[in-house]
Amino acid sequence: MSAIEKNTTSLLGLSKKDLETFFTNAGEKPYRAKQVQEWIFQQRVQEISEMTNLSAPLRERLSAEFHLSDMTHVETKGSADTTRKFLFRLHDGRYVETVFIPASKGLNGRQSDRKTICVSSQVGCAFGCKFCASGLAGFTRNLSAAEIVGQMMMVEKITGDTINNIVFMGMGEPLANIKNLIQSLEIITSHWGLNIGARHITVSTSGLAPAIKKLAEFPVPIRLAISLHGATDDVRDLIMPVNKKWQIKELFESLHYWRKHKKQKISLEYILIQGVNDSMEQASILAKRAKGINAKVNLIPYNTVEGLDWVRPSEEVCYAFRDIIAGAGINTTLRLEKGHDINAACGQLRLKKETAEGIIPAPVKAGR
Ligand code: SAH
Ligand code: SF4
Repeated sequence: MSAIEKNTTSLLGLSKKDLETFFTNAGEKPYRAKQVQEWIFQQRVQEISEMTNLSAPLRERLSAEFHLSDMTHVETKGSADTTRKFLFRLHDGRYVETVFIPASKGLNGRQSDRKTICVSSQVGCAFGCKFCASGLAGFTRNLSAAEIVGQMMMVEKITGDTINNIVFMGMGEPLANIKNLIQSLEIITSHWGLNIGARHITVSTSGLAPAIKKLAEFPVPIRLAISLHGATDDVRDLIMPVNKKWQIKELFESLHYWRKHKKQKISLEYILIQGVNDSMEQASILAKRAKGINAKVNLIPYNTVEGLDWVRPSEEVCYAFRDIIAGAGINTTLRLEKGHDINAACGQLRLKKETAEGIIPAPVKAGR
């Protein structure tokens, strides 16, 4: 029987304390936790049986309750700039997408040594933004902390690269899965885990104000990105149902709260959609909002999603929009180059696979 079919817990989702508790309860010394985590996160063993500094009976005992990997690699999609998208099958037959972006040109045009992974936090998404593939077929379930951490370990195994930057911008709304998100962040940032600096981790949210405040209190300096996509409530209401629940005023109150706890600048993400949110008036209001919280603005022209009929504005409009923001003294980026479509349209691969396998019905068109 493969680990994936076992009815056991994945070791990838346990903190050092969780494992110490297990060993203490089992009448063992707590330092066994450190040994096990070294095998997992440093030696990267694939089986508990390879943990040779544990006695055979102890390995057996561990195997009765735990396994290592929760997922299998089923598909890779690459693009010219070597951004690659991986499709992983989870223990229950669901699929999740993870994107690997090896290096990108920095603002100064120089090649950076960043190796970024874009991780998913849920299968599907309940928030149903009208431009997003992840929301198209609704929400299936939260990912466990092990499945979030597992995406990183799988990508490092497949690519042979060491990831040094993580963005929670894949499928799902991380702040709707905050318990597992925080557990995964602890494993990712701890010296006993994946040991990635919190400053190299960005959590993106569509604006769950109370959860933003909760995450602000998590005592590591992670970064926050807000999927704003509309500078006023009327525009945001059109494309992001979440805005009905937490309007811009409440959202920005939570961002002020965040700023009291963290030093890093907040990013405002803004997809440009023709005739929806790309007016110069929206640009001016966006600039004011960004200034009010000292945020930077990332502009992303809409990427085509199969089944949706939104259109990306012309390059001229994108530049004019950008110039208004930049002209107000806001640090802003505009990503026009192709190849990122594989990244931004996260959710499409999974949607195709699950629809083809009859796991979910073909989504109903959710356009205008
Ligand atoms: N749910 C969180 C995390 C997912 S991030 C959030 O919404 O922030 C996914 C990012 O991809 C978001 O910024 C989202 O707005 C963006 N995105 C979704 N569909 C897109 C599309 N068709 N074109 C460009 N960006 C898109
Ligand atoms: Fe969910 Fe984010 Fe997509 Fe909106 S943009 S549907 S919140 S994943």
